[in-house]
Amino acid sequence: MKLLIRQGRLVDPVGGIGGVMDVLIEDGKVAVIGSDLRSPNASVIDARGLTVCAGLVDMHVHLREPGFEYKETIATGSRAAARGGFTSIAPMPNTRPVIDSPERVADLLHRADAACGVRIWPIGAVSVGQGGEVLTDAAALTGAGAVALSDDGVPVQNANLMRDALIRAKRQHITVLSHCEDADMVKNYAVNEGRVSRVLGLPGRPAIAEELMVARDAMLAEETGGAVHICHVSTARSVDIIRQFKARGVSITCETCPQYFTLTEDEILKQGSLARVNPPLRTSADVAAIREGLRDGTIDAIVTDHAPHSAEEKARPLADAPSGMVGMETSLAVTLTELYHTGIMDLSAILRKMTANPAYILRINKGRLSLGGDADFTIFDPNEAWTVDPEKFASKGRNTPFAGRKLYGKVKYTIVEGRILYQDGQEDE
Ligand SMILES: [Zn+2]
Repeated sequence: MKLLIRQGRLVDPVGGIGGVMDVLIEDGKVAVIGSDLRSPNASVIDARGLTVCAGLVDMHVHLREPGFEYKETIATGSRAAARGGFTSIAPMPNTRPVIDSPERVADLLHRADAACGVRIWPIGAVSVGQGGEVLTDAAALTGAGAVALSDDGVPVQNANLMRDALIRAKRQHITVLSHCEDADMVKNYAVNEGRVSRVLGLPGRPAIAEELMVARDAMLAEETGGAVHICHVSTARSVDIIRQFKARGVSITCETCPQYFTLTEDEILKQGSLARVNPPLRTSADVAAIREGLRDGTIDAIVTDHAPHSAEEKARPLADAPSGMVGMETSLAVTLTELYHTGIMDLSAILRKMTANPAYILRINKGRLSLGGDADFTIFDPNEAWTVDPEKFASKGRNTPFAGRKLYGKVKYTIVEGRILYQDGQEDE
């Protein structure tokens, strides 16, 4: 089984291979990278005018299975990933049951076998049932295939538990991914605390609720030597804290999502529940600081926090609607539109945050081009314009604040281990 990707523009942030090249794939591995390759019996992808890069890695998604299959399944979420150019995704463990034992990790991987072939990397819970009281068995979870630990969705409130989790994760050479919000401060409030919450007469989630937890976890990482990764950074001061601890050599990394470098709290006034997300959309000063954090390298990864909900759930009033938005089918295009086409970052710097960096944080052997390595590729047109139509999503979730938006950058092929899982215009719908 051979596949030849011909004359694409290769972008390789790690190895620095660049320019128009051919890539020959054999038996699911990268066999040759070079010019004018010939392989008589290979299938050919004409990639002229297209960008070719290592397959995108999304280290923060919610697939909802088991337990909430009406929102999403591993099958529909995997197809959404493939449409978005993602070849590897890491689902958070806040399903029902929670992924908190080796048996549940194994069950998740077994279920993933029946999906389209996007590689699924389970994240195990920090605490049993995400209850925040009893630590899970990090060694057993890792042994079963978990690549990180997180109680995402339910912030770990108990500092001692987080401290112990970092110590145990360090022994397993894995990272703890932390959803940073102080539960007493944010309760179940729907929006950022500030101008918009005052306009609406609602209590809000203050920025300090995130920043206190970021500072706590950064200090715990420094003290324990364990690796902490801050999920979905949304405020200017969070970026500052992480920048300072990184400068001191602390083992801290972080991510943000397209919504946090694109949208402000004002979106709530226009889109209501569709713009409800945790942490909440913040101010324009925060958006500017997130962009600067991406540009200067403080923010390591761009993830989606893909969080599908049903139309009925998102139709509820703002105060009762669940938080979250889908993102896998728009992430690359929103990022290219907002960061590349604006000249803020070049393609290589952007792709590093969507490939090599998240793979490195999860310590998985993906996200970079290497001869003999897995042939995971994303091929896209960085300039093609399209308009977001949620009805065309493969995800069951249509809850995006980007509906109707014109974006630049379209995924053309998603290839996992030499198999084409998605090809633009070839959908079986
Ligand atoms: Zn979260």
